[in-house]
Amino acid sequence: MRGLMMDYPLTLPPLLDRAEQLFGYREIVTRRPDRSVHRYQIADFVDRSRRLAVALQDLGVTRGDRIATLGWNHQQHLEAYFGIPAAGAVLHTLNLRLHPDDISYIANHAGDRIILVDDTLLPLLERFHSALSTEHIIVMSQGDKPELPRGMLDYEELLAAADPARYSPPLLQEQDAAAMCYTSGTTGMPKGVLYSHRSMVLHAMALAMADLFAIGESTSYLPVVPMFHVNSWGTPFSCVMMGAKQVLPGLNLDPASICELLAQENVTTTAGVPTIWLSILEHLDENPDKYDLSALELMLVGGAAAPPSMIEAFESRHGLNVVHAWGMTETSPLGSVSHVGPHHENASADERLALRAKQGRMAPLVEIRAMNDGEAVPWNGTSSGELEVRGPWVASEYFDSEQGAEFFTDDGWFRTGDIVTIDSDGYIEIRDRAKDVIKSGGEWISSIALENALMGHPSITEAAVIAIRHPKWIERPLAVIVTGDATPPTLAEIRTYLEPYFAAWWLPDAVEVVDQIPRTSTGKFKKRDLRKQFDGYQLPETD
Ligand code: AMP
Repeated sequence: MRGLMMDYPLTLPPLLDRAEQLFGYREIVTRRPDRSVHRYQIADFVDRSRRLAVALQDLGVTRGDRIATLGWNHQQHLEAYFGIPAAGAVLHTLNLRLHPDDISYIANHAGDRIILVDDTLLPLLERFHSALSTEHIIVMSQGDKPELPRGMLDYEELLAAADPARYSPPLLQEQDAAAMCYTSGTTGMPKGVLYSHRSMVLHAMALAMADLFAIGESTSYLPVVPMFHVNSWGTPFSCVMMGAKQVLPGLNLDPASICELLAQENVTTTAGVPTIWLSILEHLDENPDKYDLSALELMLVGGAAAPPSMIEAFESRHGLNVVHAWGMTETSPLGSVSHVGPHHENASADERLALRAKQGRMAPLVEIRAMNDGEAVPWNGTSSGELEVRGPWVASEYFDSEQGAEFFTDDGWFRTGDIVTIDSDGYIEIRDRAKDVIKSGGEWISSIALENALMGHPSITEAAVIAIRHPKWIERPLAVIVTGDATPPTLAEIRTYLEPYFAAWWLPDAVEVVDQIPRTSTGKFKKRDLRKQFDGYQLPETD
């Protein structure tokens, strides 16, 4: 027997209507490039998003067209987040930290018809503009109107000329594409992930849940996560859905600027990658009483493993609550969040920290299994396997790509490439990327576990551990570290430091000091580059 409930399509335009009806008063704050602060209210934001939809339709945009953005986190970018899908088109956020050749490859692969670009990024666009097959370039400026190169359109002029009363939502189905992001290409060429209206609405609802990102009307939310990285983790959609205040930091991402905004705007929730929080921790350590961060309840960290020493330091030195989350471009990105549940209320401080440093438990509707040799491993916290996921906001295939079929299993799961354990309470712990794991004598060594421990050493600011070929053991770990000390710690000192935590055969065979560890555009260690840098590296003799 079929249920008799409405077949109501889950699409993004009704979120604008709701925001206008209920939260018109709520603020959206942007720090502009010149550091001045722009404020307006959700009512203006909805009006301008609809104007953008009308302007795009007037330019001939139709359902399913890909419209790209190349921009920092700011008010106009937020309007594009809603205005583009509201026109029936597909929001395609380009990653401005990629090499220009990669950006043009991605824009052409996606078939972007129009690009919305920040005026401050015109020099970047200039570097690959000629390789593009887009029809229009629309420039978003946050100050005086710039002199535009010939043929480019001014965002503000387009909006001024568009009549929001002419906006009528396109007839959308919930499975229609609403947005797309490309993976960072750590496993081959970047691949397009195409989110549907339905997946985005469900994902936005999930983020809002109390045990996930807890986004509500009283939230004041500052995303340090760029709007070009997995839709800023989907949080802008959740904030508009729930009526949260948004504080968009623009291009000033130095720790002092972020801390200032956190304090001035009474931010309650913020999100970023570990690199950002490490630099903010250092800044707060140097300026312990400078900022009033008493409103800040939740600092979400994800995108790469958060060192437990960092989680602990924020809490013990600054009373700040860092919560670890895991996700991927292919999972919209919300996968898991590591809150400590009531069943661990009697856990010791060390046990709680160990749980918080794990990647956490899956969001509702996301299912997981860890596979090893075709079998799901038991949830015992020690057996490891490749994490596979499925759920309503997980990709079912890549966009128009011959590549990547191997990531989707015949029985409908997505293979993440992350090697994990899952404990009996369902907490996932990422041990490694499948390709980064170090196989020593047939056994796995977790590079992430070693890195996390190394980053707790007082002289080490950053550490990456990679595999080096070894005649007997096949691979052995090399620790590559960054230190602020004039005399770096020796290999023997480092091994002694790590000894209490690891089996002897896990300890690095060598240590190299570098000025910095190469990172991807989204803040992850670029182990591929490090491996290249240390290709042919000779390990000292060991048995
Ligand atoms: P991306 O699609 O660029 O967001 O990259 C996704 C990958 O980032 C995942 O497959 C993980 O390898 C890594 N990642 C994301 N969040 C975490 C986390 N909390 N801890 C460790 N690795 C993470």
